[in-house]
Amino acid sequence: MRRMAKQDQQIRKRRTCRFCDSKDIYIDYKDEKRLIRFVSEQGKIIPKRITGTCARHQRQLVQAIKRARHLALIPFVSETIR
Ligand SMILES: [Zn+2]
Repeated sequence: MRRMAKQDQQIRKRRTCRFCDSKDIYIDYKDEKRLIRFVSEQGKIIPKRITGTCARHQRQLVQAIKRARHLALIPFVSETIR
């Protein structure tokens, strides 16, 4: 049995990429306040499926985060003291 093609085509919520929304934005590795939004509490980069960032910008984002980490703007692993 084939499923209706229409159902598959239906998009629940079209999440647009934040960086695509504001076109001229450049993902700056020095802008840690922006970058930190894309890093989880464990200091991991949040996958694009969750943030809705497009592949192109996710790539740039990852680069920026890595650079920022290197400069100690973003922690590699957050200090979770318990
Ligand atoms: Zn984008």
